[in-house]
Amino acid sequence: MTMVITPPIERAKIPVIVVGCGVIGLTTALVLQRTQRYSVTVVGRDIPEDLLGPHGISQSWASPFAGANWRPCSADHEQQMQIAEQLTYFMMRDIAEESPQAGIKIITKADFGSSKGELGTKPRFLGYVKGVHEVERRYWPENAVFGYTYESVVVNVPLYLSWLVAEFRGLGGVVTKGELKHISDALRFIDDGRCETIINCTAMGSLSLGGVADDSVYPTRGQVVLVDAPNVNITTGTPGNSEDKAAYVIPRGDGTVILGGVFEEGNTNAHQDMQTTDEILYQCLAMCPQLISGYSSTGKSFNNAVSKDDVEELRKRIIAINVGFRPSRKGGPRLEVQRMGKIVIVHNYGHSGYGYQTSWGYASMAASMLDAALSKNQSN
Ligand SMILES: Cc1cc2nc3c(=O)[nH]c(=O)nc-3n(C[C@H](O)[C@H](O)[C@H](O)COP(=O)(O)OP(=O)(O)OC[C@H]3O[C@@H](n4cnc5c(N)ncnc54)[C@H](O)[C@@H]3O)c2cc1C
Repeated sequence: MTMVITPPIERAKIPVIVVGCGVIGLTTALVLQRTQRYSVTVVGRDIPEDLLGPHGISQSWASPFAGANWRPCSADHEQQMQIAEQLTYFMMRDIAEESPQAGIKIITKADFGSSKGELGTKPRFLGYVKGVHEVERRYWPENAVFGYTYESVVVNVPLYLSWLVAEFRGLGGVVTKGELKHISDALRFIDDGRCETIINCTAMGSLSLGGVADDSVYPTRGQVVLVDAPNVNITTGTPGNSEDKAAYVIPRGDGTVILGGVFEEGNTNAHQDMQTTDEILYQCLAMCPQLISGYSSTGKSFNNAVSKDDVEELRKRIIAINVGFRPSRKGGPRLEVQRMGKIVIVHNYGHSGYGYQTSWGYASMAASMLDAALSKNQSN
């Protein structure tokens, strides 16, 4: 008897447009494309290829300006964000191990609290991160509210954004440059007129995007200093002298290190503030003398004396001083489905200062919401 094998029926993929080509748009697009149920096109006014061009980096998007490291900042009631942080931690660890070219590294973090005022607490995420050790109080930096080291991840942002694009394109995804005035303009980027599905990842752009403008979006200014400091091999962070300051040191794995920073809500000054730069250099040196010394970080003491000469030595190593704007939103990120006639829109924007460290979590949740919204369409 001959057996007849019927080939699997190729189902037509559902076309989806993702508006926004920062870390949130790209990760969401990649998650959707990987399901093989969707054929995804990303359209963005700013795209990672722009970073290679001669015109400098536009401050109208946030993704090129991040440190970026993984350090949860969800409050107790922010359960969606907690899930996103945890999922992204393990996803980024896998990427670091499986795809070194992605620019993610697993690295020790010395964590002394954040400007969110976690006085005396043991953060919840210490329950799942790997390699947790307590740091003796005598080694804590100024302003510390606790002291732990654990395995975190750092992201070399230009490398990682290019890797996301390459992964997505490798699966047949399309990235294209374009600016929309109205959300429904997105549909023009697929010419057969079949697309009725949009994911809105426009971050600060959501403030004025026609049809979906959201006035709860606002910028939180950041200023970071990029230095050449190849001996730094741990990432550190501690609260600053006020709620809108912190000191953090994030090595990018290529000999350069990001130093920060400030969290200035509503401040739209696009230029560097000299006093902020001085404070960043001083506080980061106190935590991390390896920024100028010939030795690799030992991860021992984080409250070292700093002289004026030390600061000037570090100043010589500055490569760039950057100002960027975190896309914040009153009430936190918007992750929800909106229907506009026949069009299904999934919003995924407003990730403030934590877009990288939550990206895989929010992208997966957005994909699940899209699946659910479309299956509801079919059953109606
Ligand atoms: C100084 C600084 C340090 C940071 N450090 C960290 C960190 O350590 N860890 C971390 O997790 N996060 C960090 N962040 C936050 C992180 O950078 C953001 O949360 C993240 O980049 C947001 O990504 P996004 O894709 O939502 O937005 P964006 O990167 O702003 O991208 C928005 C996209 O939408 C497009 N767009 C907008 N409007 C339109 C329109 N009308 N038409 C077409 N396209 C449009 C833009 O061109 C862009 O492509 C930091 C941010 C800053 C500024």
